[in-house]
Amino acid sequence: MSSSSLRCAVVGTATAAAETAGDGGRTRLEQLAVPPRLVDQLVEEALVWCSQHGLVVGDKNHPRSGKAPGVGLLHAPFALLPMSFPKVYWEQALELAPLFNELVHRVSLDGEFLQETLARTKEVDSFTRRLLDIHSKMMELNKKEEIQLGLTRSDYMVDGATDKLLQVELNTISTSSNGLACGVCELHRNLIRHHERELGLDPASVVGNTAIAQHAEALAAAWAEYNTQSAVVLVVVQAEERYMYDQYWITVALRDMYGVTTIRKTMAEIEAEGELRPDGTLMLNGCPVAVVYFRAGYSPDDYPSEVEWRARLMIERSSSIKCPSIAYHLVGAKKIQQELAKENVLERFLDNKSDIEKVRKCFAGLWSLENESIVSAAIESPELFVLKPQREGGGNNIYGDNLRETLIRLRKDGSNEIAAYILMQRIFPPASLSYLVREGTFVRDNAVSEFGIFGAYLRNKDKVIINDQCGYLLRTKAASLNEGGVVAGYAFLNSIFLT
Ligand code: ADP
Ligand code: MG
Ligand code: MG
Repeated sequence: MSSSSLRCAVVGTATAAAETAGDGGRTRLEQLAVPPRLVDQLVEEALVWCSQHGLVVGDKNHPRSGKAPGVGLLHAPFALLPMSFPKVYWEQALELAPLFNELVHRVSLDGEFLQETLARTKEVDSFTRRLLDIHSKMMELNKKEEIQLGLTRSDYMVDGATDKLLQVELNTISTSSNGLACGVCELHRNLIRHHERELGLDPASVVGNTAIAQHAEALAAAWAEYNTQSAVVLVVVQAEERYMYDQYWITVALRDMYGVTTIRKTMAEIEAEGELRPDGTLMLNGCPVAVVYFRAGYSPDDYPSEVEWRARLMIERSSSIKCPSIAYHLVGAKKIQQELAKENVLERFLDNKSDIEKVRKCFAGLWSLENESIVSAAIESPELFVLKPQREGGGNNIYGDNLRETLIRLRKDGSNEIAAYILMQRIFPPASLSYLVREGTFVRDNAVSEFGIFGAYLRNKDKVIINDQCGYLLRTKAASLNEGGVVAGYAFLNSIFLT
């Protein structure tokens, strides 16, 4: 298919969806309209609400905002009203959540599969190599993780051309925005409740978000499985974190609802202050660590020296429950996502045929760069693809002319570097006008959304204690942008108005 015909299909579908909305609403997926005369008032009310309810981030213009809680706060970026969202996608994503949780667990048990799939990547990507080295050390030691905790987020976009919900990626480490995602639902409900008549909307249709409550519950349940009253939950953090308030929502809930103490430490602090006892107990601040909850450690920037790698190894060797273990972390690699999409690979890990079908149905096109014909197609029509390295946290993918030039260079060099990347079909979600609020002012822009479902999986040996969906994250960004993270500064928090 040529790029122009695909583009036309996308635009055509989006228009059709808008036109059919209301008459039974086939695939109504668009921003709720804001009456122009209400915009200024709603923006002001929303900004006040954010300040009063902790829907905040650190302000990058304030030098201490990433270090000192309560200093240099700014409201989190948000869309002014929710997005209308068809029930079918919602239900599909909910159904997939426990399947992906189970899949992560099963793939994590197959150490050989992880090592083999990433073997070529390891040679050209030193970050992946360091993770794999820790993983193979654990395999050599025959280290068993009896209690496993996964706090996941499976991200999707609706493909406008086919109306299909397609998975963007599956996150297994430091799945963030679970705190702020709850806040924006409450914000939207509040605005709609106060303007119910003028907006003609029912606040009850804004889907409530259970991410904080359920992730706190899962962490508390893991802590309980560790079964040591004096133990703490260790939150691994970056030295500077302007997204700390998102994290505080979870840790405060853990304390208030379950009486579980958390301590926040950087990798360097863990290396300096932590002690690994001969029986495997990790001690910090004089307390045993029951659970290590990573909200850092997903990016090479989090390991500026050998000190941080020593910390990661110490954690992995300990008897603490790791959220995630090194194996769970590796399962989230883009290369693994691409391998799982190959024919007959899911069948190695899942037994039930209908589960396999459901999972496969949400896979977009995914290819290794060893596939010459796809590389040629991507050089010809780069706008239909995304080139992805093995990185997390947003801002790492390659698009458009850059993608073409990178592929041409890699092909010319004939180097192994191709193993550092995967190619993915670019998804074009239907776009609609949205009021997007950042730093106290709004822009009106054509916007698209990415929809994530949080999951929790807790297992002790053969017993699955939790395997559930845990609320959602909806992020909206200008349709003209490529990337989409809130932390990375591209996207706006949003909520779902179920139709
Ligand atoms: P990360 O782990 O860094 O979040 P992602 O795979 O989620 O990596 O990519 C980052 C962003 O790039 C996504 O949030 C989305 O906005 C955009 N993106 C990724 N894959 C696709 C795709 N196949 N089609 C369209 N946009 C994509
Ligand atoms: Mg990711
Ligand atoms: Mg992502």
